[in-house]
Amino acid sequence: MKNEVKSVSPLTSIDEIESENGTHHEVVKNKKRRRSSFKKKGAITKKLLIKFLDSAGFQAYMFVCLVLALFAVDVIALHSYGNDVTEAMNIILTLVFASFLAEMVLNFFIREDYSKLETVMNFIATFSILLDITWITELWEKSDGGGGSYERASRAARVGARAGRIGRIVRVVRLVRVIKMFALFFRCFRKDEEEDSMAPTNLGQKLAESISRLVALLIMITIWVAPMLTFEEFDESLSAWITVFDSHAQNNATTFQLEPVVTDYYDFIMDGGLLRPVELNIHGDYWDWTEISGGYTPRKKDKITLQDNSGLIVLKLDSSKKNQEDAMLNILLVVVVVVELICFIALLNQTTSLLVVRPLERIFTIIRINASQIVGALDIEDSDEESEDEKEVDEINTIEAAVQKMTRIVKHVSGGGAQGSQIVQNYIDDANIDEKTKAWLVNQYDGSETVAETPAKKKKKERKFKRSIIAYDNVDLDFLNSWNFDVFLLKEEEMFSYVRAMFMELGLYEAGMVTDEILSNFLKEVRKNYHDNPYHNFHHVIDVTHGVYRILRLTEDRLDLTEYERMSLMVAAICHDMDHPGVNNAYLVHTLDPLAIKYNDSGVLENTHVACLYSMVTTKPNSNIFVNIKDDKVWRDMRKNIIGCILHTDMAHHFKMVSQMDVFFELHANVIEKKDNPFTTPDDRQFLMNMVLHSADISNAVKPFGIYTKWANCVLEEFFSQGDKEAAKGLPKSPMMDRETTSRAMSQVNFIEFIVGPLYLNLVKILPELSELAITLLNNRKTWGDMYIEEVDGKSMSSMDFNAREEEKAKCTNRYLKFKEKFEPVMEKMEELGFASEQLLKRAGIQKKERPNPRASVIGNLARRASISMGK
Ligand SMILES: [Zn+2]
Repeated sequence: MKNEVKSVSPLTSIDEIESENGTHHEVVKNKKRRRSSFKKKGAITKKLLIKFLDSAGFQAYMFVCLVLALFAVDVIALHSYGNDVTEAMNIILTLVFASFLAEMVLNFFIREDYSKLETVMNFIATFSILLDITWITELWEKSDGGGGSYERASRAARVGARAGRIGRIVRVVRLVRVIKMFALFFRCFRKDEEEDSMAPTNLGQKLAESISRLVALLIMITIWVAPMLTFEEFDESLSAWITVFDSHAQNNATTFQLEPVVTDYYDFIMDGGLLRPVELNIHGDYWDWTEISGGYTPRKKDKITLQDNSGLIVLKLDSSKKNQEDAMLNILLVVVVVVELICFIALLNQTTSLLVVRPLERIFTIIRINASQIVGALDIEDSDEESEDEKEVDEINTIEAAVQKMTRIVKHVSGGGAQGSQIVQNYIDDANIDEKTKAWLVNQYDGSETVAETPAKKKKKERKFKRSIIAYDNVDLDFLNSWNFDVFLLKEEEMFSYVRAMFMELGLYEAGMVTDEILSNFLKEVRKNYHDNPYHNFHHVIDVTHGVYRILRLTEDRLDLTEYERMSLMVAAICHDMDHPGVNNAYLVHTLDPLAIKYNDSGVLENTHVACLYSMVTTKPNSNIFVNIKDDKVWRDMRKNIIGCILHTDMAHHFKMVSQMDVFFELHANVIEKKDNPFTTPDDRQFLMNMVLHSADISNAVKPFGIYTKWANCVLEEFFSQGDKEAAKGLPKSPMMDRETTSRAMSQVNFIEFIVGPLYLNLVKILPELSELAITLLNNRKTWGDMYIEEVDGKSMSSMDFNAREEEKAKCTNRYLKFKEKFEPVMEKMEELGFASEQLLKRAGIQKKERPNPRASVIGNLARRASISMGK
């Protein structure tokens, strides 16, 4: 069953994936083993032969053969060398023919990728050499009856010349392989030059090669076939002259009578004719022009003897001039074809490389690098024993496997941090599992059922919260519904009023979740559990609660959180720092504080806060905020949500959350762009709640600078006092907690860049309604940077010399620019989606850049990318 081809369900468990992968690999390996055992016979000889055929020496020898086959005969004809040279040439050409034939046969049987078209062309090219060997042509001429009529001889000569020319063009086909060698050479050259990590892929390389080879063949066939389609005119003048001589001979003309006719003929033929007469015998009358030609004896090949049907007239001609002209034309033709071919293939190679090979290579390289980084376990076999074919298949297999594996991994990590729940869900959805087991799974692991209604059900309801009109005493709604909400301006009673207003504004009164009395009692009781720390005090908590409230309000149209979820989040915010001692987890752990002992060093403070909340609501019925939650299941779900988001305010989870936000965004970008709700599963919603509370908890940096400074002073004061405590206990002071050495401005610059920035960059991507906060954050970073630069300037010359100062200032400015760069594309996207105005972007100095038209053609894009990659 495992060996069947089976699509892997996205919800398959990790174990199953691993076992499946194992078997998949084994199947592939078995196949390979079987295949190789088939081939084992003669495989070694084959490999050796291929090595020999590909060796530079053999290739060079074949190149020399090719040059000889292409030009030797014509060069000899051009110079009209003697017969001994022709004989020598015959021997050489026979050798060349034998070499071509042997190479062709070997390639045909050894190489599997030999194209049929190329084989046919090679066959014709090889056998066309025979036309140049006079031994063979003589045989053919003799069988033709020798001499024969003038027409037949003339036609034969023409056909021979044309066949030779065509044959030579076909021989150029071998040049394709030579060009391939050149291409490889240039590729190596290019690689040396660029020294980038772009390993040429077999696939891309093969593609470029086979395209150029095919096109070369096409060109050659065209050149080959074209002359066959032309109509050829025959020169009938010679046969006309023979008829004239013949008629004179038939009439028994005397030598005296023949003389003027022959002279006429000689004058005519010498006036631009290519066939020079050597001897003429008309019925015993004999003319010999050898003397006039300068005692020259033509080559065997250049002699033409013509006879009439009766055999009374014999005309011997010297065709060397004509043959020279033919040779010249042949050489020219071959040179033109070769040049054309080289230029064309070079152009074609460049184009395919720009448009196809380079992008392919880049894609393959990226996938290969990333696949090995992320997946690791993919064993990419890179042995030399594999044939080119197998390597190519492996390349594609590797990429396929990598993409599939990455997809499965992403599916597993994407559940808002609740890894494993998808496995449970998979079992629950399985029709083969009985109801009892299902119920146990649901009960034990709580995979699917929570109070969260699915958005589909929810959509029919009214989206906006219903708000009860209870008089808001001492509450300024404009102040409440803005980021200028400054909790430092509020007295304790006013803070209570504002929190009650938030609950009302979120429709929680109307939904019957709380009454004004319960909430007031609850708030008073909670207040008692907050210490007057410099930072982690009741003011901080109201500030965070306001942050959560604002996020809920700004996203209320899109996110469809249930009243239970809104309530859980608000209660979690109010209680998220209960009983905070004013020191951090690290201090508690280092000093073996009873709390650290109690919670085993893990989330010590956060566990304390939640425990404090629930011990309060369970022991003090008057202030039990959950008194109206009658359904036990709902109560437990809310508890789960509250515990979840308070535990996630632990900074230890910060970067994990940032990374999960990254994955979440990648998976839901299209939903977010459509302004739909991406948080559809209970896990997603828990993730959203964790994210909202943690973001609000560190939201000082995204508030207007005036408010931010107050918080920054508070937090530093708390840090410094921890530093003092550490010093008092003889412990080393924690970083950023030494009041002597810590720069206020730089501590905030770092806090923004390393902690708040990455989180809010992702938060804005997922909740674009919060775009404004990112702009404020950028401006705050700039302001703290300016303050730091002032701080540096204010330092006495003794502590820092001029150059060091300037360097420090430049560093700070550059860091800001880099930080801003990360936000720019995101903010531009927000503007595009309508979540941020151009004015808002301008507030942080983000100028919208001209972007290439997204509707540009695919080819245009490819070409652009190719030109970027080639751009040196
Ligand atoms: Zn807090």
